[in-house]
Amino acid sequence: MKQIVFASKNRGKTAEVKYLFEKENVEIVSLLDFEDAPDVIEDGKTFEENARKKAIEIYDYLKIPVIADDSGLTVAQLNGEPGVYSARYAGEHCSYDDNNSKLINALINFEKPHYAKFVCAAVYYDGNLLIEAFGEVKGTIIEELRGDKGFGYDPLFLPDGMNKTLAELDIEVKNKISHRYKAFSELFLRLEKEQML
Ligand code: IMP
Repeated sequence: MKQIVFASKNRGKTAEVKYLFEKENVEIVSLLDFEDAPDVIEDGKTFEENARKKAIEIYDYLKIPVIADDSGLTVAQLNGEPGVYSARYAGEHCSYDDNNSKLINALINFEKPHYAKFVCAAVYYDGNLLIEAFGEVKGTIIEELRGDKGFGYDPLFLPDGMNKTLAELDIEVKNKISHRYKAFSELFLRLEKEQML
């Protein structure tokens, strides 16, 4: 079975991506299985730039086909913040709770609804072929945490047309609507077309 490395050590994201690829004829391993792999510095100005950089640097190190993503939350009233800084919005090594508290405080003086989007850029690279895909999910940020599933900003994000936050939805449901699902679905289709799966 073909092996592809998902270039992430994030357990929440890795669980989602493994689930998404479950029916494909491919084994997904993550950087949790390659502890020595370098930490790629995400210093790009866009999600696409960061995902491309991660895929290429990890491929160059492991020489195994790689999929990488960069994802985050953009909030309209905050001019797109936290954006590419979503993981470290409240500072280096901050927790999800720190980020969520900072976001609630940043929006306190703005009128509701707080329109937001989760976005995901996904890239496949095998030393030869480079394929890029993009996905997003629109919604609003609420002012108190709801739910304990998922990760990151999930407890504050209410997808359009739903009355549950992403953290109140089961992984199967989140995975049918999420930015990551959309980006990776497009990536699979392109990989199938190229007969890489
Ligand atoms: P990345 O690992 O550089 O893509 O950083 C993504 C950061 O964006 C995460 O640490 C989360 O804070 C946030 N994020 C991305 N996708 C999600 C999601 O599906 N739910 C909640 N937060 C997310």
